[in-house]
Amino acid sequence: MADRPLHFSTRAVTTGRPPAGPDAPLNAPVVLASTYGSFGDLEYGRYANPSWTAFEDALGDLEGGRCIAFASGMAAIAAVLDLVPTGGTVVAARHSYTGTIGRLRELEERGLVRTVLVDVTDTAAVAEAARGAALVWLESPTNPALELADIAAVVRGAHAVGALVAVDNTFATPLLQRPLEHGADLVVHSVTKGLAGHSDLLMGAVVTASEELATRVTGSRTLGGAVPSAFEAFLALRGLRTLPVRLERAQATAQRLVRRLEGHPGVHETRYPGFGSIVSVVLADAEAADALVHGVRLWRAATSLGGVESTLERRRRWAAEAPTIPEGLVRLSVGLEDPDDLWDDLEQALPAA
Ligand SMILES: *Cc1c(COP(=O)(O)O)cnc(C)c1O
Repeated sequence: MADRPLHFSTRAVTTGRPPAGPDAPLNAPVVLASTYGSFGDLEYGRYANPSWTAFEDALGDLEGGRCIAFASGMAAIAAVLDLVPTGGTVVAARHSYTGTIGRLRELEERGLVRTVLVDVTDTAAVAEAARGAALVWLESPTNPALELADIAAVVRGAHAVGALVAVDNTFATPLLQRPLEHGADLVVHSVTKGLAGHSDLLMGAVVTASEELATRVTGSRTLGGAVPSAFEAFLALRGLRTLPVRLERAQATAQRLVRRLEGHPGVHETRYPGFGSIVSVVLADAEAADALVHGVRLWRAATSLGGVESTLERRRRWAAEAPTIPEGLVRLSVGLEDPDDLWDDLEQALPAA
């Protein structure tokens, strides 16, 4: 075999596997243990677990850094926000995930951080706001507005003024975007979504190329205690193995649906960044959007995204969603069903105009 780096889809299948050998299992087993024999590297179940490690090796390899797994995406986000010194400023995408904004508000109310919300598409404004900030929090594409940030340019601006940059990479996944390669300090994932991909677990992850940050984030997990279960780590790795094929198929279907949605008179606006499996459509108003959500039969009305099954949701039904998200916006998470079946179902539920 030529001595060149393995391709992404090969690494998605092979990293984190136990060494080959007679009778060696091909997959890392689920290790259910609260404690281990003393004097080794593991010691206790809140510090380490071999099932986490297998997942962490795989995702860390795909993102290009060291991965630390958490109990949920929010636990991973909380651990990164823990890096901000008391009273420090966080510059965040105004259309960040609602939980991220909620957590920042709560930290602000307790006087622990100051938050400045920015439009991530305005690179100059983000760089300007980063002066004096401890952390710039990007999400790209944003959920559910689907705006894109110029990660490399924001990183240059933020690093010039001494701020760290974290990127919530849940929507793009490392298949489509690797923020550490653009100089970001930390990547955060809701593993719950496309990485695990089957709507059957909650998990999160932080990935960083900095040993110092990895040590601090690991410490935050150990003392914060938001550790994943071994079984969920096993399932998440099983999901990650098929990420490239799942995403390629879901993306191809999303692109076909976008072309049809753009030509539909009942759809005022279709938002799609050109890649990925998430599409947002804006209908006339909340009533039209609710009619779509209640009118579909194959698509499931459900929050969350990135699963093998297609789901949809009117985001403003949540009080916490940003008021700048249109009332009539419905977020579609495209799964693996046949594209024509998905279109037929949307078409029969969409308003005529
Ligand atoms: C769902 C989501 C989160 C939160 O992850 P949980 O696993 O639900 O805690 C964070 N960021 C984005 C972009 C998400 O979609």
